[in-house]
Amino acid sequence: MLERTIAFIGAGNMAEALIKGLLRAGTARPDSIIATGRREERLDTLRRTYGVRTTLDNVAAVREADVVVLAVKPQALDKVLIQVAPAADPKKLFISVAAGVPISVMERRLGQGVRVIRTMPNTPSLVGMGACALASGEHGTEEDMAVASRIFQSVGITTVVEENLLDAVTGLSGSGPAYIFLIIEALSDAGVKVGLPRYTAQKLAAQTVLGSAQLLIETNAHPGQLKDQVTSPGGTAIAGLHTLEAGGLRTTLINAVEAATRRSRELG
Ligand code: NAD
Repeated sequence: MLERTIAFIGAGNMAEALIKGLLRAGTARPDSIIATGRREERLDTLRRTYGVRTTLDNVAAVREADVVVLAVKPQALDKVLIQVAPAADPKKLFISVAAGVPISVMERRLGQGVRVIRTMPNTPSLVGMGACALASGEHGTEEDMAVASRIFQSVGITTVVEENLLDAVTGLSGSGPAYIFLIIEALSDAGVKVGLPRYTAQKLAAQTVLGSAQLLIETNAHPGQLKDQVTSPGGTAIAGLHTLEAGGLRTTLINAVEAATRRSRELG
């Protein structure tokens, strides 16, 4: 249990995923969570569903919190930082999930000595299967990183990186769900091409991606080793693999991650 009051500024999809995860994991109590937003109706829903406290007043929420999770869209963040800066002080920890907003910008807005951790989560966090990288600002302590990690571990796995690697994380795991959805869609099309009904094909494709990832994680094996286990001499898998290699799948994926990383740098 985190004995801290946590304020979520901007109670949208990501904030709700974290609130749900924290409560399910028993990492926080409903009365130690405050959610803010712009629509009373949305806050009513969160209050009724999770029993958390809510307010339309960002400044009041920050004033009361030990940990502030900034969960508004990146375009809205600057306005929020300016608004809550008077309530910020070095006793509070600020955690941002906003893509592309540098720690230095947040530190400058929030004032001298403020502790900031910037994160890059991904959409599978919404079902408790996220992958999140965290980077600390100048004043963040080891304990701050432990607290932030526990918050994101309630919706998936976490890893700590230097801030300059967050663009690479964005290119890989941040944007990665889009690549995987494309792959699942393509495999489903392929299934239809070889005669399977659409729904059956998609179900098999999605479960194959999920199951393969789970097998890799649980065995901690090298992916090549698991690939070899499926690939019998003169068999079906090697025929498929040969076609993927001829089509340049590895190079295409490397290029995709590199292009997304470059784009993240341009936007940041
Ligand atoms: P969202 O639009 O669902 O949530 C944002 C919420 O902020 C909305 O409910 C909106 O009403 C509220 N809001 C806007 N301005 C506000 C203000 N001034 N004060 C208080 N509340 C305000 O968006 P989301 O998908 O939850 O994304 C939130 C952040 O998380 C973004 O910065 C995004 O970059 C980051 N992120 C999300 C994901 C994801 O999986 N959804 C992944 C990586 C990063």
